[in-house]
Amino acid sequence: MKRTDDDKQEPLEPEEVAGTPTVEKAITVVGWQGVRCNLPPDWNVTGFSMDRESGYLRVDSPGEGSLTVQIRWTDAAKPEVKTFYHVLAPHFRRWLRRPPPLPPKVDLKANLEKFLKDITKQAKKSGEKLEASTKSEKEEGENSERRAMNFSWTGNGRGQGKIWYCSRCNRVLVAQVLGLGREQNAIASIASRLFSSLEDHSTNGYDLWALYDLQVEIPEGFRLASQKLLSGYIQLVFQRGAERIVVDRWGLANVTLKKFSLKDWFTNHANVALKRFSVTETTEEGHERIRYVGKLTPLTRLRAVREAKLSLRNVPSCYEAETWHCPESNKIYAIQVWRHARSLDVWDEVVRRCVCH
Ligand SMILES: [Zn+2]
Ligand SMILES: [Zn+2]
Repeated sequence: MKRTDDDKQEPLEPEEVAGTPTVEKAITVVGWQGVRCNLPPDWNVTGFSMDRESGYLRVDSPGEGSLTVQIRWTDAAKPEVKTFYHVLAPHFRRWLRRPPPLPPKVDLKANLEKFLKDITKQAKKSGEKLEASTKSEKEEGENSERRAMNFSWTGNGRGQGKIWYCSRCNRVLVAQVLGLGREQNAIASIASRLFSSLEDHSTNGYDLWALYDLQVEIPEGFRLASQKLLSGYIQLVFQRGAERIVVDRWGLANVTLKKFSLKDWFTNHANVALKRFSVTETTEEGHERIRYVGKLTPLTRLRAVREAKLSLRNVPSCYEAETWHCPESNKIYAIQVWRHARSLDVWDEVVRRCVCH
């Protein structure tokens, strides 16, 4: 499931309904595939890739603003071209009980030069001349785990960016803020905000997935399997072997809940028949919440394995779900978990780590 920059997502339409309660956020939190950053309020993710190893994220300033943030990352430990040797080597190493080799040393300067050459070439095609300047390499991070270089360029527009290599997660990241030629100060201020908050790996074992006001943390062993990002409806599906987490969020809860009870709404949208599960209904801080817990039947376990492309790792035996209505953000949330008997705290932790307002 590889996406390239050519099939970026279209920007979403903002939800606009008279009388809809809106929550004013002091910052925009963005999280995708282990990369996270903070930006000023109302910035929007307008492009992303599905691939974790080599990815892309684009975030635009609100309204008519011309500022844009672009973040790209690659896994430095993965060879770009997989040869027969690269495929077989890990098996031989396991067989001989040898440790994996150290990843190749990343030449940051060469990476940056290539990046700048590429964007200069692209600009030249449209008759634009770019002038770039780079700063020298420095070490960063609490344990000097990063090597970084700053750069900037001017042409018809201008950009201020940073490239770095993180030795903990083996990622090379390039992040830059782009804008018009006259926006030097605005670009610098966004860049300092971006670079001071940008992280390339989780530090607490959970990846933050945050876009379009959705904020949820998922254990880092889970991988994004599919997404639906529509105006008014978001779904993210994560897999770890045959275990699965499905996060759903619906907008316009006030309209929906005039026609349906929360229970009926979720019963119609859950990925399993809920009749056989035990139900608990509560109201916490004005949020109506319904929880479902129970064992999966052999047939639903089999279906989980099939949906996980026949993975027999972590075959789930338990189903847990929670749906709730957040009046402050006017949204309905649902988190469903198909988990292995051993994965006791996945559901509790994910529900607790989902920020609804
Ligand atoms: Zn890292
Ligand atoms: Zn809420």
